[in-house]
Amino acid sequence: MVLEGLGSSIYNALRRVFRAAVVDEALVKELVRDVQRALLQADVNAGLVLELSSRIEERALREKIPPGVSRREHLIKVVYEELVRFLGEKPAPLKLKSGERNVLMLVGIQGSGKTTSAAKLAYYFKKRGRRVALICADTYRPGAYAQLSQLGEQVGVPVYGEQDGVDPVKIALNGLKKFEDYDLVIIDTAGRHKEEKQLIMEMKQLAEAIKPDEVMLVVDATIGQQAATQAEAFHEATPLGSIFLAKLDGSARGGGALSAVAATGAKIKFIGTGERIEDVEHFVPTSFVGRLLGMGDLQGLIEKVREAELAMPRERVKAILSGKFTLTDMYEQLEALRGMGRFRKLLGMIPGFSYELPEEAVEVAEEKMERWRYIIQSMTLEERENPKIIKSSRIRRIARGSGTTEKDVKELIKYYFTMKKMFKRLKKGRLPASLRRKGMRMKISVA
Ligand code: GDP
Ligand code: MG
Repeated sequence: MVLEGLGSSIYNALRRVFRAAVVDEALVKELVRDVQRALLQADVNAGLVLELSSRIEERALREKIPPGVSRREHLIKVVYEELVRFLGEKPAPLKLKSGERNVLMLVGIQGSGKTTSAAKLAYYFKKRGRRVALICADTYRPGAYAQLSQLGEQVGVPVYGEQDGVDPVKIALNGLKKFEDYDLVIIDTAGRHKEEKQLIMEMKQLAEAIKPDEVMLVVDATIGQQAATQAEAFHEATPLGSIFLAKLDGSARGGGALSAVAATGAKIKFIGTGERIEDVEHFVPTSFVGRLLGMGDLQGLIEKVREAELAMPRERVKAILSGKFTLTDMYEQLEALRGMGRFRKLLGMIPGFSYELPEEAVEVAEEKMERWRYIIQSMTLEERENPKIIKSSRIRRIARGSGTTEKDVKELIKYYFTMKKMFKRLKKGRLPASLRRKGMRMKISVA
């Protein structure tokens, strides 16, 4: 959903890479061109696109590929890493100094979502035990104070404003005097003036007078490249410390956000994902890019695949491939998947699935796997090692013991034999990595 346009076109490009028989220079170049096109279509600034894509190409073609990683995986990893690197490797949370008052000033043009985001941030930090207060320093928009007061009431934090005030600097200073012993004071500002120059001037004066700990630019995720121009103008008036990306819930393409980051060097710290005050989230670059590429937490996938390969000894893999696959093996697989976290999360990590799987299917699969674990737990060692002996009376006993139905048990056994047959077919010349991928695919088809 998020940044769908951009996400799905890069995703489609990457999908082709996944399907291609060989990953060679021509394919790398083709992918880079696809990524360029996707970024340009998403309104990302052309200079930035060129920079990003040439880095991707350079790394994909020159970098030594580490052992255990295929060229394909490496290419996808590079695309992912470059986008993440650009947005900030690690989440950059808003760090509040403790035992001291923190002043946060929000800037941005009218309609970008400043007032709403001010209330969201108040909600966010109040929920985390901070004493938060709001100040309305927007004297331009009629009803601005009333709007913030109403939101403040909803959140349960005090709001300072002056009904007929004309001087935002004075109002802000009065408010700050009133909220001396608060942990966080958020100042909402005007987003329009008769002329843009005046607005920028006002922000400059405000920032100089109140000396905020941080100035945060609120950017509407639905606007395109204008975001860069806006961000630059505000950045000139008062250096921006961070970005709040609002309205990242619709069909926003988000290219604007990338451009705003590029124009100012400020990192995105929060995202707004809806109109309600609870619709605020920490910005997490890796998951943002993962979603953007339509493949969830790819970094996590790469790490986990490697861990999983280490965890399964080669002889075991060989044995499984030659048909010595027992219910004990299957149980271990189910356990391993559980250890990796929720099934949903895992599916999100498998390239190609996050876009395709309907929510209900995921739930069914999760539930089923849980049931299967209970069923196998209720079996004797002999039954697990030699499932052929599981006939009707055993099925009845196992169903009762595991609190499931006979139908469930039969389904599991049927699935087991299908899987076993499949592994046999896979026997010739397959690697553990592809085994894993196939295994996952099969589980999904169960749903
Ligand atoms: P300001 O002029 O910058 O103070 O913007 P407002 O806070 O008044 O918001 C302008 C409009 O955007 C309002 O209708 C908000 O409800 C809406 N809005 C703000 N943040 C979000 C968001 O994250 N998602 C959605 N869907 N709407 C938002
Ligand atoms: Mg406002």
